[in-house]
Amino acid sequence: MKLRTVLLAGLLGLALSPAHAFDLNKALKVGTQALQAATLSDADVKSLADQACTQSDAEEKIAGPKDKYSKRLDNIAKKLGNEINGQPVNYKVYITPDVNAWAMANGCIRVYSGLMDLMTDDEIIGVLGHEMGHVALGHSRKAMQTAYTVSAAKSAVGEYGGTTGAALSGSTLGKFTEALINAQFSQSQELDADNFSFDLLTQKKLKREALASAFQKLADLGGGDHSMLDSHPASADRVKNIQTRIANNK
Ligand SMILES: [Zn+2]
Repeated sequence: MKLRTVLLAGLLGLALSPAHAFDLNKALKVGTQALQAATLSDADVKSLADQACTQSDAEEKIAGPKDKYSKRLDNIAKKLGNEINGQPVNYKVYITPDVNAWAMANGCIRVYSGLMDLMTDDEIIGVLGHEMGHVALGHSRKAMQTAYTVSAAKSAVGEYGGTTGAALSGSTLGKFTEALINAQFSQSQELDADNFSFDLLTQKKLKREALASAFQKLADLGGGDHSMLDSHPASADRVKNIQTRIANNK
C-alpha cells in the first residue's frame, strides 16, 4: 500500500519530502523487485543466500581454521555430513557469546561459539539437524521470499535503493540478511524440522536424546537478542514429541 502511494506520488509529480528528492526510475525498479519476490527462481534463491551469507560473514568474527571451535565443528560436521538433500554445505563458527545457529538455502551453516559453549557435540548435531531440516523442507526458501519482499518494499519507502534482478545492496542487503537470520517459523514448521533432525540422527545412528536436551537447554536459558529461542520457539510439545518418538523407537 505504501509502495503504491509512493509510486502514485511520483507519477503525479508530487514532492514527497524536501529531504528525499524523488527518483521515479529507482522507485519503479524497486516496485519490479517487490513483484519478483513471489517468483524467485532456484538461481535467485541461491544468489540471494550467497549474498546474505557473505554479508553476515563480513559483520561477524569468524573462527580461523586452527581455532578450537573450528576443529570441534569440523568433527561435528564429519558425523553430520556435508550435504543437505545432495547440496554441499559450508560450516563456519562465529565468535560471539550469542546462543544461535542457522542454515541458509545455499547450504551456508553458521554456529555461534556461545551455543557451542552451552551444548555437547551431540546436542549441537541435533540443533544443526533441525536447521538443516528448515532448508531441506523448503521453510528457508519461504522465509527468504518474505524477507525479500519486505526488504524490497522497505527500500522503496526508505531510500529508493535496490537494483534490478535478485540482488540487494547496501542497507537493504543488511536488512534482508537480518530478516533471514531472524526468520520466524510456524509451530508446525518447527515440529517438522525437529522430526527431520530426529530421522537424520536415527539414520546416522547418533544420539537422539540430545535433540530433546538441546531444546531443553535453550528453553532454560530464556530468550534475548540473537537467541535461537526467538526464531525457533521451544515448547513443551516439541520436547514431548521427541521423547515420544524415542520411547516408540520410530
Ligand atoms: Zn526451527
